Amino acid sequence: MNALIFAVLAAAVALAYYGYSYTTEAAVAHELQLRAEDLAAEKVLTVETKIIADDNALLRSVRLDQLDKLPDQVRAGGIAISSVFVLDDHLNVVPGGTAAVDDPKQAVANRDWYVANVIPKLGLPKLKLDERGHWYGRHADQPYLLAFMHKQDGDRTYYVVVERNVNRLVFDLFPQVFESTKKLLYQVVDENDRFAEGTPFTYESGVSVPFIDTLQGDHGAWRLRVTERENAAEPQLRHQHAIDSALIGGAVTIILAGLAFLALAIRRERRANELKSDFISNVSHELKTPLSIITMFGEMLANGRTKSPEQATEYAEIIYREGVRLDRLIENVLDFAKIERGMGVYEFAEADLGDVVTRAVDLAARRLQTAEMTIDVDLEPDLPQVKIDANAVTLAVLNLVDNAIKYASSGKRVALTLKREDHRVVMAVRDWGPGIEREEQARIFERFYRAKAMRLKPIRGSGIGLALVQHIARAHGGDVSVTSKPGEGATFQLWLPI
Ligand code: ADP
Repeated sequence: MNALIFAVLAAAVALAYYGYSYTTEAAVAHELQLRAEDLAAEKVLTVETKIIADDNALLRSVRLDQLDKLPDQVRAGGIAISSVFVLDDHLNVVPGGTAAVDDPKQAVANRDWYVANVIPKLGLPKLKLDERGHWYGRHADQPYLLAFMHKQDGDRTYYVVVERNVNRLVFDLFPQVFESTKKLLYQVVDENDRFAEGTPFTYESGVSVPFIDTLQGDHGAWRLRVTERENAAEPQLRHQHAIDSALIGGAVTIILAGLAFLALAIRRERRANELKSDFISNVSHELKTPLSIITMFGEMLANGRTKSPEQATEYAEIIYREGVRLDRLIENVLDFAKIERGMGVYEFAEADLGDVVTRAVDLAARRLQTAEMTIDVDLEPDLPQVKIDANAVTLAVLNLVDNAIKYASSGKRVALTLKREDHRVVMAVRDWGPGIEREEQARIFERFYRAKAMRLKPIRGSGIGLALVQHIARAHGGDVSVTSKPGEGATFQLWLPI
């Protein structure tokens, strides 16, 4: 019972824990979503700030009167610069005003293409002095990013244009900032939603922040996408979910089983209580009858109201018989009470089971005689010694023999056998009485239970005898059972381990 209560409590705690963790998880997920938005915006800002800062530094450092320094300036310009070129106020390239990091030929070709196709669109003359502008677009499906500034040297106006290397931006700068974490996955896509950098995942929902100050052109902007790692439905997470579901299922099952068991126990207890009130009236009756008989015959003897010495002996014998019966009943009730209270009632010692059985049969001899019954005792010789509580086992044997006398006297005989079967000693008490109905055979071992047929007869009983026998047998590591065909008698088998 304690184990059951503990299991139910544990299951309830587990459920409470899961309930709690699911609500917090939901809250965390919500917070994560909010945080992811902030984080993504912050990261995009970091990248754009870095690009703009590099652009500004380079744009500011280039001077028309120091063009010889241009190649060094370009190389020192920061991450992912491709080339720089300087235009005069008519938007023509200034002589010596071009420098490239990698392939100078390619840089010149690109420059000429920009000058012809892009620069006229930028509205450079309208730009304020020292103000940075930028332009993003595609040429032959290659992305390009230009940053430019309107500058003045004395009374000469000129323009500096920086060509960023977009591929290197993506591969060198982005990974430093957009590194996926345990909880969040990052990826960058271009204006056509094509994957550019980060962790590949299929994006359904989550956060998406555009690069509005740099990689944005006429056809849209690059974007940073963030999603929770859980949304990516990893197998490990699925595994965890399976375990969680199993545990929750287990907890629910334990609670339901516990409740079912409790309901069963309550029903059993209620039934036992009903039987208990029967028991009290039975026991009172059993106590009262022998006491009245003893009082009556004792009084007769005391008053000398006997016709002959034989009659006096007969009266004395009746008194003796009833006294023994009273003694047996009280012994049963007291032992039963001890067991009910769960006290350690047994004291085990090596003993010869044959001797114990013989003593019990001797104790029952007189009652057998009175009931006009005979007993055949068949004890296998040389049985091994067993560890038993001799008094308890005597009580058990007496109860079985007494029951045969009480309920099966019509059969006129009882057979008692004791033999070894493998690692057990088996004692059988067979009678030829009315037997026990099949559906009652298990129930007669319940405390206070008395078979229907017997309740109708004027046979006294308390219903604790067989419960006691069963308890004694089990306390010895054995058990007791009955086989019976109604009308043909009953056989009670009690076995103890060797
Ligand atoms: P009690 O004998 O005090 O009623 P027990 O626990 O010894 O209590 O027995 C329970 C019931 O089992 C009895 O009321 C009786 O109906 C049935 N019973 C026990 N032994 C026999 C038997 N040898 N033959 C028929 N019925 C029996």
